[in-house]
Amino acid sequence: MPDCIFCVIVSGEIPANIVLRTPEVVAFTDLDPKAPTHILVIPTEHHENAASLAVANPVQAAAVLAATEQVATEAGLSDYRIVFNTGAEAGQSVFHAHAHVLGGRNLGWPPG
Ligand code: 5GP
Ligand code: ZN
Repeated sequence: MPDCIFCVIVSGEIPANIVLRTPEVVAFTDLDPKAPTHILVIPTEHHENAASLAVANPVQAAAVLAATEQVATEAGLSDYRIVFNTGAEAGQSVFHAHAHVLGGRNLGWPPG
């Protein structure tokens, strides 16, 4: 998807601080971190959100979830939050499925 910033990060045409790359997923630090650790895990295929990814490619959906644990552990986190914003009203601004992995401070619950 040429106009998708995350597809461009997958292709390597724009740089990102990549912490994990596999055939199924890419993980990189968020440009505008909302917690001391804020990593995005994205599937290498373009799908609009987590639910459409899960329907179209369950293998990549599972790989995204498994990678969240891997990158959190490698970042030294035992406690963390995984967020899949879905739709603009929920805060989704990039319409390529992605998991936010957030940690490193007390995140509180419920979120604001
Ligand atoms: P959303 O709001 O869609 O759930 O999350 C998109 C996230 O992507 C935001 O937290 C935003 O800071 C991050 N982001 C947007 N563009 C870029 C970029 O070019 N590079 C990186 N590393 N993060 C980005
Ligand atoms: Zn994309």
